[in-house]
Amino acid sequence: MPKEQDVLSLTRELIAFNTINPPGRELPCAEYLGRILEDAGFRIEYHSLAEERASLIATIEGHGDGLPLCFTGHTDTVPLGAVPWTRDPFGGQIEGDKLYGRGSTDMKGGLAAMIVAATRLARIANRKAGLTLVITASEENACRGSLHLTTLGGVLGNAGAVVVGEPTSNYPLIGHKGTLWIEARATGVTAHGSMPDQGVNAIYRIARAVGKLEKFRFDTAPHPVLGSPTLNVGTIVGGMNVNSVPDRATIGIDVRTVPGQSNREAFEQIRTLVGDEVELDCTVDVDGVWTDCENEWVQEVFDIMEPHIGQRPVARGATYFTDAAFLAPAYGNPPTIILGPGELEMAHKTDEYCHVSKIEAITEAYTQIARRWCGV
Ligand SMILES: [Zn+2]
Repeated sequence: MPKEQDVLSLTRELIAFNTINPPGRELPCAEYLGRILEDAGFRIEYHSLAEERASLIATIEGHGDGLPLCFTGHTDTVPLGAVPWTRDPFGGQIEGDKLYGRGSTDMKGGLAAMIVAATRLARIANRKAGLTLVITASEENACRGSLHLTTLGGVLGNAGAVVVGEPTSNYPLIGHKGTLWIEARATGVTAHGSMPDQGVNAIYRIARAVGKLEKFRFDTAPHPVLGSPTLNVGTIVGGMNVNSVPDRATIGIDVRTVPGQSNREAFEQIRTLVGDEVELDCTVDVDGVWTDCENEWVQEVFDIMEPHIGQRPVARGATYFTDAAFLAPAYGNPPTIILGPGELEMAHKTDEYCHVSKIEAITEAYTQIARRWCGV
């Protein structure tokens, strides 16, 4: 039986892999984790997304007929940004309670804790249910890696509950809004700026759409925790020079839907609103996720986390979206919790760090969650 990995060493080893997306290059990091999990007794499958890019699915069976628990995390990180770091972003330097590095918070700390908890579970011979790890590539590009897995036909297997290790400061969150990004384009006919009657002004067309979007409200009832769906026009681009009639103008629309609201319907409502003058393209389409707070397993996870966070968790959602948007529907929408050691305010930041104490605490908590689920 191989020796147990130390969770902090493993976090630092994962940080040392440069998995900045773009371009990603998650394969060596996935293979490193694959070897650890294989040694522990997991069955390993890689699913290639592109050259040097792959997601990893690792499974271990149980001896009963219960569905497995799914732990999921991603190996890619966001770029370093323009501002120089004061710590080595791939060094995993530890100072006091802080472990520095790109991906420490989002989410190699959480991933390392899941791996250690999984290898511990693998040592328990009489487990009743199994465990599946879905370790995705390209999460930071609108969850493209998890979406890819759902298109491969059955590779995800089954799961009776899902834990997503994204940064929550170890506070269990039970869902998030959906996201719909739309590019809206108006075209016109160019002419000299001194003779505007000879052209068709694309900026006027897109401006009419912007005016309608500003006044628009979805008629969906507010979600009791996540609130109402929102819409924001985030970008506008149009025109070549001041003395021409512009023949092209585009806007970027950011819609946040609530769980239960269909992204497809939201898109159609916007299409009807802006009319024929504007063409729409959906660039990101990620559904919302929500689990009833009273769900028995959710309450069990709340029991486990209560001593770690010093209070009884209540129903709260994440402000970001996660791989659960694609994985949960693929598993038939089992109860899903977002829970990880990272600090949300450190995600994607210069000098990103994760608290050492939170990585250690979540390793114990994930172990307990897995043991309780697997009946050991
Ligand atoms: Zn993340």
